[in-house]
Parts: sequence; structure tokens; C-alpha cells
Amino acid sequence: MRSFFIAIALVAICSCGGVPYFDLRHPIYMVTEQSFWSGCEQDPTGYEACRASRVQQINDGVKQWFDYFGKANHPRAVILYSKNNLPSNRVNEDVIYLKIEAGFCGEGSFACYAYGASSSSYSSPEIVFDNSFTITPRRMAHEFGHVLGRDDNDVPEGTGSVMSYKLPTVVTPLDIEMMCRLHHECRMVKRK
Ligand SMILES: [Zn+2]
Repeated sequence: MRSFFIAIALVAICSCGGVPYFDLRHPIYMVTEQSFWSGCEQDPTGYEACRASRVQQINDGVKQWFDYFGKANHPRAVILYSKNNLPSNRVNEDVIYLKIEAGFCGEGSFACYAYGASSSSYSSPEIVFDNSFTITPRRMAHEFGHVLGRDDNDVPEGTGSVMSYKLPTVVTPLDIEMMCRLHHECRMVKRK
């Protein structure tokens, strides 16, 4: 039993060669790859409006998670248009790249969270959308759940969890509870 708790503690405090661990008390950085803007050149609303709208979808997805937290210690996800703008002294060293690549996630998949994928040019985690139309707050909320350590269908179907495949809704209180079990610092930033 004791070793069980030690194992849990290790998972909680380090990424230990597995997927990166993001500390909610410090900003989580996401960097857009050029492909993330593909199609914006032809967008009738204009290039900048197109980019702003995609960023909005991403932010709305993240917001579903972070709106559960108190104002004073609200976790932050920062979107940067270039990795040159990354602060060098950041606590969350891993950076999540946002990109569009048709077929990357497998046939019929609209988006995915990948880390160390052999087909990828990055050793960093990435959120990949199949095309610009698949960039939606709900899909982003799901992929961001993976960033926070959640798995697909890790709660029973019917709970409406954002991680569910069949009937996902939005980020639910159960989703937050599950996520907080994986993040030891969650109790320090959460206020409910
Ligand atoms: Zn998933």
C-alpha cells in the first residue's frame, strides 16, 4: 500500500520520461506553427481576423477548464505566434505546438494530442488539427484535457465528460475532480 502511494506521488511530481507534466501555478505556453494559419490567406474576413478567430477557439477550449479556478490563482495558458517569444526562465519548460496537418491523427480523427510521435518533426507535445474547421472549443477542451494528463474515456460514458468519445459535452466538475487527482498543486489553485 505504501509503495502504491509513493508511486502516485512520483507520478504527481515528475514527468519521469513519460508525458510532460504541466504545473498549473505557472503559465502553460503554446506556440502556433505556420500550418496553424493555413487557409487564412484566402479567408474572406481577412488574414488577421482569421488568425484571431482560431486563437479564440483555442482560448475558449482552455477556458472551459480554467474557469473552474478562483480569480486570484487562475491558471494561465499563453499562446505565442513564435517560439522566439518564449521566456527562457519559464517553469513549464515543455511547450505545446499548435498545428494543422491533414491525416496526422489517423483517418476520421479531427484532432489529437501527440507527444514524441515518430511522424513528427517535434520532440515537444503538439495539438494537431486535421483542418481549420476542426478547430473548435470543444475539441480544444478535449485535447487540453490530455495536456492536463487525462485519458480518452477515462470516466464512464453518460457522464458527459469532455474526454468521452460518444457523448462529450463540456468540461464538467467531474472532469476537474479527475484532473485535480493528477495535479498535486490543484488544491492550491482551485477555489470552489
Ligand atoms: Zn483524445
